[in-house]
Amino acid sequence: MHLKYGRFCSAAIHGIEGILIEIEVALLPGLPSFEIVGLGDSAIRESRNRIKAAIKNSGFAFPPSRVTASLAPAWMRKEGSAFDLPLALSILLASGQVQLHPSFNGQLPGAFGELGLDGTIRPIPGVFNRTAAINQATLHHLLVPADNLEEARTSASANLMIAGTLTLTDSARILSQGMPEDSGEPLTRPARPGLAAKAPDIRMIQGQAKAVRALTLAAAGWHPVLMLGSPGSGKTLLASTLPGILPPLSPDEARMVTKIHSAANRMVGQPGLVSERPFLAPHAGVTRHALTGGGNPPAPGLFSLSHLGVLFLDELTQLDSSVIDMLRQPLEEREIHLSRLRYNLVLPADFLLVAAANPCRCGEYFEPGQRCHCTPDSVARHLGKISGPLLDRLDLAVEVRRPAPDDLIKTVQPQSNAPETLSSSQLQQQIAAAWQIQVDRCRELGKAPVFNGRFEDPDLARLLAIPPAVLNLAGQAAERYHLSVRSYQKLLRVTRTIADLEASSEVSPGHLAEALGYRINLFPEGQL
Ligand SMILES: [Zn+2]
Repeated sequence: MHLKYGRFCSAAIHGIEGILIEIEVALLPGLPSFEIVGLGDSAIRESRNRIKAAIKNSGFAFPPSRVTASLAPAWMRKEGSAFDLPLALSILLASGQVQLHPSFNGQLPGAFGELGLDGTIRPIPGVFNRTAAINQATLHHLLVPADNLEEARTSASANLMIAGTLTLTDSARILSQGMPEDSGEPLTRPARPGLAAKAPDIRMIQGQAKAVRALTLAAAGWHPVLMLGSPGSGKTLLASTLPGILPPLSPDEARMVTKIHSAANRMVGQPGLVSERPFLAPHAGVTRHALTGGGNPPAPGLFSLSHLGVLFLDELTQLDSSVIDMLRQPLEEREIHLSRLRYNLVLPADFLLVAAANPCRCGEYFEPGQRCHCTPDSVARHLGKISGPLLDRLDLAVEVRRPAPDDLIKTVQPQSNAPETLSSSQLQQQIAAAWQIQVDRCRELGKAPVFNGRFEDPDLARLLAIPPAVLNLAGQAAERYHLSVRSYQKLLRVTRTIADLEASSEVSPGHLAEALGYRINLFPEGQL
């Protein structure tokens, strides 16, 4: 009796990397059974049920023999439902119910997709990255869930033919009749709404000149920023304008962001690469796991999903202190290390942190009209919930007040804009120029390009070309406000960014004076 045998390629996702998987199915004589080797325990049982049901409900027969499937490489723990489709197709090939069309030239096709019990094919996470792995293995044919077709196309090279499929029957037909021409059109349902709605234009924000300026500086020097203001003062709206004033992603950056978002299943139905910088705004109850990522198989969390974009943490004083502590690693190292029993992973996590909090328990501390009766002690206790190490990392702090009625009227009638109000795209150009100045400075210093907000060096003042007269004044300010060494360094970095944003090679006392305004002067000793 000859061995009945079927093979297929697929790809798993590990962190944000796609890894090629080879699937083999053998039908052996013996009592009917279905064994899968190389798939995680919990995944096996569910997968077996789905595959059996999908095969039967698509009008095929599940072979009445010992069905043994294996997924290689064996070292890798494979979880999830993406192997349903290639497993089912391998079984159909092994049992002779489907024959590979000659146009496949005997080459192994690739596939991934989850099967519904009725044989429909459902989208899976990480298709951008899985397709990259299939590409790398120089396969020529790939079947993907119809909902993931756009995502797969974005990642595929010209040599890879891709077909989106809706059902197991559909996929079996493609194997026996050959790959259809790719029309380039979406196969079925229209794309879901975008990852993030387009950022609102910063020009629509009225009466918040100082906060807008602080966010502009944050973007210009990649400085973590803290907004303190009452509920309803517009902190969330302010933060959400940032992706619109940050310079666009480079093609390499767009690929990386797409890779991360694909691995987290956020690219389903999205055509093309992610084009706008991410903006993530988790709620105050967010867990450590949701922020760092992890799990089995490991997937990126919010820190990585905000990579090269903005992470907005509102209600900072309400966040669990263990959550706040988690911020340290990405802020210092621009990546997140996941060490688990089964894996060690490093994921990118270079985000612009925008934090917000009420300035006191009632939130009205900065509002006019003396509504706030919080004592200095209670204000100190309230802000004391933000841990020192995080405060050290927040380069800029700005108070945000509710817009005055006058400003609201201006919002209704935008034509009465003050002439100096810049649009997001105008600011974006200025910021891009400031970024280039920072890149050029680092190159002249023989350093890898790093933003002012990330500039760490004992010789910071000299390297950032802060002249002695300004340093002298900065020293006096440090003494007057009892600034820590870190706060003093933050002051110099922000001063440099203010000059860079003006395209001024000279740093002036005026730049320093403005930088001093982004400390929060809640306490005489000046915590920030
Ligand atoms: Zn208060």
